[in-house]
Amino acid sequence: MADDAENLWTADPRRLLRPGPEFNLASVDRAGTPGWSGDKDDAKELMLRRGELLSELQERLFAHGRTGGDRSVLLVIQGLDTAGKGGIVRHVLGMVDPQGVALRSFGVPTEEEREHHYLWRIRNALPRPGQIGVFDRSHYEDVLVVRVQGLVEREVWEPRFEEINRFEEEVVESGTTIVKVALMVSAEEQGMRLMERLDRPDKHWKYNPSDVDTRQRWYDYQAAYADVLARTSTDVAPWYVVPADKKWYSRLVVTELLTQALIDLDLTWPQADFDVETERARLAATMQPQVLAAAEQAGEQARAKHVDGEESYREALAEAGSLDDLPGDDGDD
Ligand code: AMP
Ligand code: MG
Repeated sequence: MADDAENLWTADPRRLLRPGPEFNLASVDRAGTPGWSGDKDDAKELMLRRGELLSELQERLFAHGRTGGDRSVLLVIQGLDTAGKGGIVRHVLGMVDPQGVALRSFGVPTEEEREHHYLWRIRNALPRPGQIGVFDRSHYEDVLVVRVQGLVEREVWEPRFEEINRFEEEVVESGTTIVKVALMVSAEEQGMRLMERLDRPDKHWKYNPSDVDTRQRWYDYQAAYADVLARTSTDVAPWYVVPADKKWYSRLVVTELLTQALIDLDLTWPQADFDVETERARLAATMQPQVLAAAEQAGEQARAKHVDGEESYREALAEAGSLDDLPGDDGDD
């Protein structure tokens, strides 16, 4: 039943999906749906409703940025080919106003980028105040593909873990909430998804012969990911390890993580920096009496609608907040 969809979370995904000291990437069930007791349809339904809340929260963030606030959110999406990074962008971020989203995809560094420190292009793409920044791949490629393909020596990539931790600390310090998601697809599912790309002419553009080369180094990538998760999941910028064989689950989780990050910012609508009544009188003086009367009538309706809207926002917020009371660990890791 739609009204109870929130209750289908049996545990808070934020706590459930954070790798702890005992974390073992090899034992993550990539087809699992940790914490979610509903099915695909339940998930889609909840996601739509969460989308409305997410959208309002995003608008508050945008307004905050427009009025001198310094907060922003950065969603870092990592995962192997076919893990569903693009789908997260389309289906989760697609629920909010694109004006407030700064999306950046990181591919093989350009010639110019190669002339700079690896964090140079990352710093340049950080979200401005009020924005939700989204990284489709990120600085983590510099300890993943770069390491597995041996593009630089160990002496070069090894110190990067610490450097990345310090960098992210600095980013958080400046007002950005960082949400890092590692989409973990199984080898079987990746094989199926790549094969589908070959089977469908409309998906050929997504296929790259190098995807199979990468796939041949599956275990090297898993080991590199395991190190990333062990060494860069910090209190200020934790990782969430998201099983990704079921796309509806990973999308629901990321929606939830983003929503919670925005709730935690606790932003209210900015106060007007002018006197509303003075402005109302100034504007009214410029209007024809019958137009003014119509505007006043519309204004009453707008105020009533605002009260309703505020009420449903508070309700949605309370439902989302109730996840805080759920247990964080069902003993699955
Ligand atoms: P895609 O995400 O499918 O568009 O592919 C982007 C490609 O760029 C992937 O194969 C990444 O591994 C690669 N890539 C991203 N960042 C780096 C980097 N810093 N060094 C080398 N390759 C990278
Ligand atoms: Mg690709």
